Amino acid sequence: MTKEAVVPDVGESASPLGRALVLMGDMWTVRIVRAIFAEQRRFQDLRDSLNISDPVLSRRLRGLVDDGLLFTRAYQSHPPRHEYLLTESGIDLWRVMIALWTWDRTWAGAHHRDSGLRLRHDVCGNSTRPVFGCGRCGAIGLTARDVKGTVDDRLLLDVVGRRSRRSPTINTPIDASGVLGDRWSTMILSDALMGSRRFHEFQSHLKISPVTLTHRLELFVETGMLSRESVAAGGRRQEYRLTPKGIDFFSVTATINSWAAQWLADDGQSGLSLIHTACGHELQPQFTCNSCNGVLARPEISFEGSAV
Ligand SMILES: [Zn+2]
Ligand SMILES: [Zn+2]
Repeated sequence: MTKEAVVPDVGESASPLGRALVLMGDMWTVRIVRAIFAEQRRFQDLRDSLNISDPVLSRRLRGLVDDGLLFTRAYQSHPPRHEYLLTESGIDLWRVMIALWTWDRTWAGAHHRDSGLRLRHDVCGNSTRPVFGCGRCGAIGLTARDVKGTVDDRLLLDVVGRRSRRSPTINTPIDASGVLGDRWSTMILSDALMGSRRFHEFQSHLKISPVTLTHRLELFVETGMLSRESVAAGGRRQEYRLTPKGIDFFSVTATINSWAAQWLADDGQSGLSLIHTACGHELQPQFTCNSCNGVLARPEISFEGSAV
């Protein structure tokens, strides 16, 4: 870790979704926020449970306070000690946490560092596998296919402006933070979720260089999120199709998008509009318990077990 802050390279001009993706693309943001959800509020508890060095942890905590996700409260005065609590916007990240956990749980494999974490629904008392849906109309089991997305130009400028400062590699096996950690990857995946399949479609929608696009598509094929298929005789024309693993990432994008619109936008516009086609309204991400079919609410869920 060499960065000095959680969001070192994001200017005020960045779109809300762009800023939210930078925040959530950082593995430590996700792990620290989740640990505080699990009531680990003190420096020592966080350090021990996350297995993180003191300097890195204090830098990250400072960054999260600056970003308005955490605030501090004194619990002892001699010597002065304080604990970290989630602000309202920090607490509201719980749906994003659920989406990330669900995707990693399903696709990142048994060796993923969070594979020991379980999500408990306190209402029914069972371990739950959340099902994604629309809170506006109550539909469950939604995928990207049920939603119409429109990308704002502002968001694309954002990505172009920052492309050289992001790492071009994704670790294998891939996890959700890895996908989010690379701006172009998130945009290409979002564009695929909106229906693009051909090289030139991605290129014209995203104004991305052919070299960068080739590289990112290759990574997605390698990590099993896209499949490359020949659609014309002789294999001259190829399409990139989302695999179930790629399609499933939609709930991550949608929850981050909705959080960004709520907390980082002055006008409620994140830079990406997602309309649930069936009800005609902006998608309101909601999760349902697969065990009791109840809608999951923040105070009624808890992460159990331990992350490595
Ligand atoms: Zn709906
Ligand atoms: Zn339940």
